[in-house]
Amino acid sequence: MSWELPDRISVREVGPRDGLQNEDPVPTDAKVALIEALSGTGVQRIEAVSFVRPSAIPQMGDADEVWQRVAKKPSVRYSALAPNLRGALRALDAGFTELEAVVSASETHNRTNVNRSTGQSLDEIAEMIARAHERGATVQVIVSTAWGCPYEGDVPTERTLWVAGRALADGADSVSFGDTTGMATPTRVRDLVGALRSAHPGAGLNLHFHNTRGTGLANVLAALELGVADFDAAVGGLGGCPYAPGATGNIATEELVYMAEDMGVATGIDTDAMIAVAGQAERLIGRTLPSQVLRAGPRTRTIPA
Ligand code: ZN
Repeated sequence: MSWELPDRISVREVGPRDGLQNEDPVPTDAKVALIEALSGTGVQRIEAVSFVRPSAIPQMGDADEVWQRVAKKPSVRYSALAPNLRGALRALDAGFTELEAVVSASETHNRTNVNRSTGQSLDEIAEMIARAHERGATVQVIVSTAWGCPYEGDVPTERTLWVAGRALADGADSVSFGDTTGMATPTRVRDLVGALRSAHPGAGLNLHFHNTRGTGLANVLAALELGVADFDAAVGGLGGCPYAPGATGNIATEELVYMAEDMGVATGIDTDAMIAVAGQAERLIGRTLPSQVLRAGPRTRTIPA
């Protein structure tokens, strides 16, 4: 049976940022160790830190120190998330050449998070893109709540498309659709990816799923069938406050790798090595992480009779 899927995908590991940002704070040493362990799995992109105000997100308050101390691997592209212009300038000063900016498609979510309208955030992102490009860096604009918002419910495709379109018109090097609270389904992935392709055929696209409602890998498969070849994932399924109702981890990197490689879609990542790092992440966080491949191991791993 032939299945039209990409030969390979690019995986961006977001555990050190999206994962740890939503867990209880961990020591700087442990963050450095996690990033370095991840860089030994074959993963080629790591979102390492976020340059936020420490008072806003204490978990990321040591971003500069983490980044200084990490032993950088030439085979890995590291990126930083910048929530605003000040964060972008900090990231550029720290030497990052790949930045992620973020804006919510949902007006209410954007106002709740950063106390401004989506349009105002897009204005600032345009400035961030200009400043980054002056210094030879790229900016991906992550459109969060791309499929839905906990305050507004479903976010219409046209709305998300409008936000992505503005980012691209302002010079974004690529866009990412973030399923912040796990509201995407395969059908809704098809709708939004199809709409972006029609409106902006050449635009680089990353997808970022959370497994909140158990459809994370199904969403990935739907996207693979559409030829999408760039995904975020977090080792172990890190992320999502364990005390909040509906804790919302990212899709687990080792689960994505396990599924993709089995379908002949290369990731460059060693499944066993990623599972080992997931175990390390679990010990670091001190709670059971949601990854099922971490529990069961790959299918090819047998036990003594
Ligand atoms: Zn996320």
